[in-house]
Amino acid sequence: MAYTAMVIGAGIAGSASAIALHKAGIRAVVYEAYERTADNAGVFLTLAVNALDAMRALDLDVSDLGFDTPRITISSGSGRKLGELPYGTTLSGGMVSRTVKRADLYRALRARAVSSGVRIEHGKQLVDAETTGDGVLARFADGTVATGDLLIGADGLRSRTREVIAPDAPGARYTGLLNTGGYARGISSGSEPGVMNALFGRRCFMAYTSHPNGEVWWVANPACATEPTPAELAAIAPEEWRTRLTGLFRQDRGPAVDIIAATDKIFVGWNTYDLPTVSRWHRDRMIIIGDAAHATAPSIGQGAAMAIEDAVVLAKCLRDAPSISAAFTTYESLRRERVERVVEQGKRTGGWKALGPVARLPRDLVMSLAMKRMARAGNDPSQWIYEHHIDWDEPVRDSS
Ligand SMILES: Cc1cc2nc3c(=O)[nH]c(=O)nc-3n(C[C@H](O)[C@H](O)[C@H](O)COP(=O)(O)OP(=O)(O)OC[C@H]3O[C@@H](n4cnc5c(N)ncnc54)[C@H](O)[C@@H]3O)c2cc1C
Repeated sequence: MAYTAMVIGAGIAGSASAIALHKAGIRAVVYEAYERTADNAGVFLTLAVNALDAMRALDLDVSDLGFDTPRITISSGSGRKLGELPYGTTLSGGMVSRTVKRADLYRALRARAVSSGVRIEHGKQLVDAETTGDGVLARFADGTVATGDLLIGADGLRSRTREVIAPDAPGARYTGLLNTGGYARGISSGSEPGVMNALFGRRCFMAYTSHPNGEVWWVANPACATEPTPAELAAIAPEEWRTRLTGLFRQDRGPAVDIIAATDKIFVGWNTYDLPTVSRWHRDRMIIIGDAAHATAPSIGQGAAMAIEDAVVLAKCLRDAPSISAAFTTYESLRRERVERVVEQGKRTGGWKALGPVARLPRDLVMSLAMKRMARAGNDPSQWIYEHHIDWDEPVRDSS
């Protein structure tokens, strides 16, 4: 169909959506709130194989970014290795999960969207949207408006589009964990490059992985029962993070304290959230995708993956369904169950991290038994997440 789509947000879901729509023959214009993107420049994320599979459907290759991350090891603060798992399956051609800097991923997606002919307008913060007789009118904070046949809200966790579509939808849920991290140089983590090490310490969780260039990329998740305000978080200076984290990991075996000491600049901290169930994803000609519709806690490393899968599946639905409304209904029937299961699994994983020193012993025991059972049975309970495949050419069956 020769639609024109307005995509709100040039993050992961928005840029991937623009690329997918273009491939489906649908004209897309992207409206991004920020003038120049800050992109949370320091942060990194792992694109699990299901994300890479969805990117393949768009002929998107990120093999020049970051590094392969084929395995995860899990250990406790006592230094005991609780288990080791593949980080998802291996795709044809030997492709495995890949860890990349978030800013590099954003840049690559946007560059590809623009080179496909998609226009990205910066400084366009959506403040409202309404359906007209045969389209949608979007209003921006700078007083300008835009129109299109449909509007895709890819505007993240604090989505304004979500408020327009579902004013009663719950907001983001604080998970009880903070996040910080950094890049350590000049030390060895003692781990093979690319292996993601999950350290369930006595008082805090850390994940670290060595880049083949020798850097150690890490994040830590201190538990914090009450949600700090943005001002409270901003007031924690990098050196204060260093002191706090060093204290939290002091009793643990493993390289955590050395990694923290070898990091020049510790990231400004942030809270972690998820967004379990938004009962309404679309109304008339407007829809939400990515974190705007179903944010998952970072613990499961699937938020970006879900956003990219969403973008590809929605473009296929718009390509094949007889109307926008049928496309949206079909899209929801294909996506809701999967993303809500992922959010639930992310919540459970995050729960392991937030346990205090008393609960840690039974936790380590349960995890160790679970890992042994998995190794014996030869299957990972997250396999269903990684094995998801999207065939771009396969027509979508209308379920409206
Ligand atoms: C610490 C951390 C670690 C993570 N690690 C992983 C990982 O390892 N693997 C993984 O798959 N996922 C990970 N994630 C999750 C992943 O980053 C998100 O799920 C993903 O970025 C969601 O993409 P999105 O495009 O929906 O939202 P975003 O990337 O947040 O993009 C939203 C965009 O919309 C713009 N915007 C917002 N409001 C408006 C408006 N009103 N008008 C116009 N534009 C607007 C924003 O400026 C932004 O550019 C992690 C997240 C965190 C916080």
